[in-house]
Amino acid sequence: MFSATEAERLIFTLTAPICEVETASLTHVEEGGCLGRVLAAPVTSSLDFPHWDNSAMDGYAVRAADVQTAPTTLSIIEEIPAGTAPTKTVEANQAARILTGAMMPAGADTVVMQEETERSAEAVTIFQGPQPGALVRKLGSLYRAGDELLSAGRVIAPAEMAILAAAQQTQVQVYRRPRVAILSTGSELVRPDQPLGAGQIVDSNQVALAALVSQAGAVPISRGIVEDDRSAVKSAIAAALTQADVVISTGGVSVGDYDYVDDVLEELGATLHIRAVAVKPGKPLTVADFDGAPSETESSLRKKLYFGLPGNPASAMVGFWRFVGPAIAKLSGRSGPWAPEFVQAQAITALTAGGRRETYLWGTLTQTNAGYIFGRAAGLHNSGNLVNLANTTGLGVVPQGKTKIDAGSAVQVLKIR
Ligand code: AMP
Ligand code: MG
Repeated sequence: MFSATEAERLIFTLTAPICEVETASLTHVEEGGCLGRVLAAPVTSSLDFPHWDNSAMDGYAVRAADVQTAPTTLSIIEEIPAGTAPTKTVEANQAARILTGAMMPAGADTVVMQEETERSAEAVTIFQGPQPGALVRKLGSLYRAGDELLSAGRVIAPAEMAILAAAQQTQVQVYRRPRVAILSTGSELVRPDQPLGAGQIVDSNQVALAALVSQAGAVPISRGIVEDDRSAVKSAIAAALTQADVVISTGGVSVGDYDYVDDVLEELGATLHIRAVAVKPGKPLTVADFDGAPSETESSLRKKLYFGLPGNPASAMVGFWRFVGPAIAKLSGRSGPWAPEFVQAQAITALTAGGRRETYLWGTLTQTNAGYIFGRAAGLHNSGNLVNLANTTGLGVVPQGKTKIDAGSAVQVLKIR
């Protein structure tokens, strides 16, 4: 059985980024635009920022040499609001009224803020001799044409969109998003919109995993429920493989009489790399890959990855957070690190575990002035307690070989994004 760290390392070596490039629009926000996409090429500015010298304040554009002895009175030659170009040159003992962001007029090199002046109809008195060059944002002082503004592999978030807009890059080169098919195996499962019969339970994994997949920046393809029947599982997996870069299934990976997933993967020609990981919850974890087969939608022969997660909803989500999400992050072409983020926190409740496997306890991670604190969620921590899982913002880790972390001691916590 692999340790969590070994499993993670192996999964990353099996995962090759998808480097197929497509174009996303910056401005078609109603279609999602390029938000959350991964830049396939660096974004370089074709402009200097600022594009011209401009004023940082509302005030008066002056020649520094004229105002070294204050107070001094200058005559006003024109007014320059933002968005207009100055028409005159500031000569000796002259000033131009200027507003924030407006272009500096020729001749002037310094701005005096309005608060340090007194205005009459045609003149302004300056009370404070400013530093030469004060309150002028110089052309190119932030970025020069040709500078790299954003690197390839960067995820486009709102601030990146603002940068793209400022650089007038409205068609953005991004990587194709990974496609991830999701299958729920189990003859007891019904869709959330169907009535429940005796012995049946609702398939909650399908929607939860689809949401996790899209949060991870990939495209979820919901393939629905498959009954515990060898040939049904086989044809469902085979069909899912033709549509996706990654297939995730839940259920059917234990050693029960109806757990066919591993057998079927072998029949379909997969290489099984991992069958179990020493983590709790989520020990039965199957990781396999398939050599690429030609398909209608794809020219490349990419390997396909397969993750078989346990059916138990809590185990499935923990397995996703710990192993599948990071693999999708790498696959999507974004720059690393892809591993989940662990932070050190102080446990505010005692954390107990069996000791044989690395144990992930759900709870609440809070940032305080003194650092992070972590408290275990109240209520039963077994199998399907989705209610306390829903309040989870971190997974506290009790290492293998350890049975208790006392309240007040340090604990490593996996941050849930
Ligand atoms: P399995 O891994 O198939 O043995 O399932 C373990 C437990 O998780 C059982 O109690 C199942 O009923 C439950 N379960 C399996 N699949 C799902 C699912 N898609 N949604 C919710 N619960 C599930
Ligand atoms: Mg099952």
